[in-house]
Amino acid sequence: MEKPAICGGIPVRNTQIFYGHQYIDDADIQAVVDVMRQDLTCGPKIKELEDKLCRMTGAKYAVVCSNGTAALHIASLAAGVKEGDEVITTPITFAASANCALYCGAKPVFADINEETYNIDPACVKALTTEKTKAVVAVDYTGQSAELDELLDHCHQHGLVLIEDGAHVIGTRYKGRYNGSIADMTTFSFHPVKTVTCGEGGAVLTNKEDYYQKLLLYRAHGITRDPSLMKHEPDGPWYYEQIDLGMNYRLTDIQAALLISQLDKLPMFSARRKEIVKTYNEAFAGMEQVRIQKEIPESDTTRHLYILRLNLEKLSINRREFFEALAAENVCCNVHYIPTYYFPYYEKLGYKRGICPKAERLYEEIISLPLYYAMTDQDVQDVICAVKKIAEYYKAGT
Ligand SMILES: *Cc1c(COP(=O)(O)O)cnc(C)c1O
Repeated sequence: MEKPAICGGIPVRNTQIFYGHQYIDDADIQAVVDVMRQDLTCGPKIKELEDKLCRMTGAKYAVVCSNGTAALHIASLAAGVKEGDEVITTPITFAASANCALYCGAKPVFADINEETYNIDPACVKALTTEKTKAVVAVDYTGQSAELDELLDHCHQHGLVLIEDGAHVIGTRYKGRYNGSIADMTTFSFHPVKTVTCGEGGAVLTNKEDYYQKLLLYRAHGITRDPSLMKHEPDGPWYYEQIDLGMNYRLTDIQAALLISQLDKLPMFSARRKEIVKTYNEAFAGMEQVRIQKEIPESDTTRHLYILRLNLEKLSINRREFFEALAAENVCCNVHYIPTYYFPYYEKLGYKRGICPKAERLYEEIISLPLYYAMTDQDVQDVICAVKKIAEYYKAGT
């Protein structure tokens, strides 16, 4: 039977709402305008931003860089990931979490997820650890902290480095401590869909001086001006040495100024996101057609994404049809994520479907609903109304 595009007449709203959007205010714009009259790059805003990230998270060191992917790359290099190594990560993430291993010539190994939290399952990480394993890249999926204590114990027992891909996690606390101050290294992304943004940007946070020095080198060509690190005697004040092979992954002062201003709003962003998540959770709690992501008590979560998981047994339509029905209501969603090893590039490397069944099943059932600071209460109610309308209309057996 042909189902109508819009179930039951008119859409719940007339204008489209998207799954994420940045929030820029006059203070942000002024911060950028001001810095334009000063240094555009390599100026004082970089250190100011790094100090601010340290203050806000409790991490000892921060190295900001051009984006979250660059952050993962330099963190992997600082961890010593190299050809022949294996790096364990989750498939339910953006491709960058695994690509960083490939950049270093290492092999990504995919561990399955916990069925309820959707984060990487420490038991699967343990089962996949071999003598080739060098690092674990754990993603705080949707902003909920990964099981850091269990992962850290395992990593440190086996001499592995725990890199936390914290692209979603800024603002979240794990057992009372801000994420960014816990894992061996934590990476952030400041892309516009993330909780705070500077257009493109990233950071690596760490408590270890040794990683910090390496991160600085890999961010900027492997070049140092520190005489204690040099091989040769400086032959003048201009002298510097390239002592390793790094990239140019610098952030500009323009971006840093914007991010410093954005970070002032993080408590406000965080509070609003929590409020919206609570409203969604309460609205969906009694519905058998959908499932709510489990929240672990250890994580005081600032959520970057809100995942609606469909209970397909209780629906007469699949995820794609549900997604399209939401779009017909002018609620434009997204799906996070396609399992990384489904991509042709990974297929070409020899990865086959079936290696992480829980992750694959999750992918068939999820939709990311709109979640961002500037959503109005009416927007939130419209999304809820659209979900309930579709879930009722396409209830299994009706
Ligand atoms: C956004 C994101 C990245 C990459 O960050 P960019 O700043 O876009 O390079 C990496 N991992 C996860 C989980 C992300 O969501």
